Amino acid sequence: MNKFWSRRIRDIVPYTPGEQPKDRQFIKLNTNECPYPPSPMALDAIRAAACEALRLYPDPECAALRAAIAEREGLSPAQVFCGNGSDEILAFAFQAFFDPEREIVFPKITYSFYPVYTDFFGLKRREVPMNPDFSDPVDLLCGNNGGVVLANPNAPTGIALGLDTVEQLLQANPEVVVIVDEAYVDFGAHSAVPLIARYPNLLVVQTTSKSRALAGLRVGWAMGDEHLIAGLRAVRDCVNSYTVDRLAQAGAAAAVQDEPYFQSVRRRVIDTRERTAQTLKENGFTVLPSQANFLFVSHLDRPGKALFDGLRERGVLVRRWDIPEIRDWLRVSIGTDEDMAALTQALKEL
Ligand SMILES: *Cc1c(COP(=O)(O)O)cnc(C)c1O
Repeated sequence: MNKFWSRRIRDIVPYTPGEQPKDRQFIKLNTNECPYPPSPMALDAIRAAACEALRLYPDPECAALRAAIAEREGLSPAQVFCGNGSDEILAFAFQAFFDPEREIVFPKITYSFYPVYTDFFGLKRREVPMNPDFSDPVDLLCGNNGGVVLANPNAPTGIALGLDTVEQLLQANPEVVVIVDEAYVDFGAHSAVPLIARYPNLLVVQTTSKSRALAGLRVGWAMGDEHLIAGLRAVRDCVNSYTVDRLAQAGAAAAVQDEPYFQSVRRRVIDTRERTAQTLKENGFTVLPSQANFLFVSHLDRPGKALFDGLRERGVLVRRWDIPEIRDWLRVSIGTDEDMAALTQALKEL
């Protein structure tokens, strides 16, 4: 803190990103990155875009990338907005669709950027308690609010809601925007995109960071009614019109078009997740049913802190939050089969 800081940032508690250690080689199961490389077509497209044309600004409307996404999802390009990672799009959406008078609601245990955005943008929040099995408290997200934010599958639990439940939420909140953050949807959940045609209050947000192995490229997109998309564009053009650079637009479009590669990566992650969940259960762990590229696990006899520290000493990095409800739980990203063998070996030692 410094006397030159604005009042707005003096009081804020910013988001804490997962550790990216540089000092030693860890098996990195802490930030839900993909253990496999990006599509070779995406890498070729990025190399081809690294050319003389970089002296020019990128297309602010990301036309080619939006066309690729629209084509894949059966939408019109006017229903798609691209941004510098889905975090940026979520930040834009909070500013575009929520007002300070009424509380926005989201589950108590969810992506920790949501409370940060709420506070930073001067909004009010109501965090509703989880069901005892860590599933989303759907009834408490219905009505009497200024907007709803839902990660589906949720993070860090990995639990997914069915499409019928998402639709129930949309029907119960017809006058406010419902943001469905689908960062992990490709690992087994059902996307809400088919509901866009019937619900003008639905904004679906996705990213290349997880299932397309491009966390380093920073590209995400939102899909929804064109009036919502226009709202996002309005916020963007008050901040920075060129948030997605030329390399990112080219790489992301190629990744979206490389469907076979995408399918094979997602299948491998799901298979490894199911095998790992089975092994952990056989070793006495409680494992929540995950439709994401991570598992949320705990052990009756071992505090979360001891497991976390013990894994770190053994070179395995996972994620843990010091929040009362989940302090004995670890979120473990799905790595390669070898990564997961090292994890289960280290846990057995502990
Ligand atoms: C990883 C993640 C994001 C952020 O994705 P980026 O596109 O890399 O910014 C958004 N929401 C959830 C729930 C995530 O886990």
